[in-house]
Amino acid sequence: MRPIVIPESHNYIAAFLTLACNLRCSYCINKFETGHLEKDRLTGKQWVEGLNRIQSRDDLPVTLQGGEPSLHPDFPFILNNVRRDLNIDVLTNLQFDIEKFMKQVDPDRIKRKAPYASIRVSYHPQTMKLEPLVKKVLRMQEAGYSIGIWGVLHPSQEREILAAQQFAKGKGIDFRTKEFLGVHEGRMHAR
Ligand code: SF4
Repeated sequence: MRPIVIPESHNYIAAFLTLACNLRCSYCINKFETGHLEKDRLTGKQWVEGLNRIQSRDDLPVTLQGGEPSLHPDFPFILNNVRRDLNIDVLTNLQFDIEKFMKQVDPDRIKRKAPYASIRVSYHPQTMKLEPLVKKVLRMQEAGYSIGIWGVLHPSQEREILAAQQFAKGKGIDFRTKEFLGVHEGRMHAR
């Protein structure tokens, strides 16, 4: 199959392994009028064949995301079989068995030279507990994974996100915030 060459103008590559998720955040952008789109998905083999066609720059990784990407039954297979010279990031809520994951995927598989962590854990105060999450992130960090937490400054949870950031940073975790872009209570939040 022919390579897929990513144009210089592109600055993000997302692979939505599945739109299924184990959480139900009220503001989830994967929730459409008819509910969650969780039905069909490519097999791990199909994903590997497709992703391995991508020719990208060193500073433009493929982000495996969802939904929650770890819900794809072949998640470790995909990580372990994508070309080593293709940089990979993961966007996850980390609601999976990390001990099992760490036995299956080497930390160096998801690590690249970048000013931010390669495993980006999204923290959603509405549906997640902070302390167990911080514990899991620390465990993976100590095991050599490049991992950090991100929180969206949605107006309904801004205070909680900032408090969580302070808490996580105090434990030595890189916790970053993202601006909320969208409509909340009739007001458009945009740049
Ligand atoms: S964790 Fe992410 S994908 Fe899952 S429901 Fe929340 S916002 Fe949606």
